[in-house]
Amino acid sequence: MQCPQYQNENPPQAKFCLECAEAAQYEAEALQHAALVAHCHLGLGKLFELTSKRQEAQDHLTTATTMYREMDMTYWLGQAETEIQAETEIKELSSCRIPF
Ligand SMILES: [Zn+2]
Repeated sequence: MQCPQYQNENPPQAKFCLECAEAAQYEAEALQHAALVAHCHLGLGKLFELTSKRQEAQDHLTTATTMYREMDMTYWLGQAETEIQAETEIKELSSCRIPF
């Protein structure tokens, strides 16, 4: 998919691009919305997995997991809803507007 904001090419399975996900993370941190920051790390981890950047993916997924644990959101881990919720919330903040 191509991001309408940055015009960059991304893996077809990606729901948002790296630039928009990072912008969303920055915005979430500014809002001090910890759950959303964790979602962004999860989303970035999945995005890096799609681009086969294993180390970056691992770093973001580890950060997301740690944050979920610290926020006592462990029940989210391993649940399919986590990914859906994260993508929805990131899309709300980011400029990527990709129809499902
Ligand atoms: Zn984008």
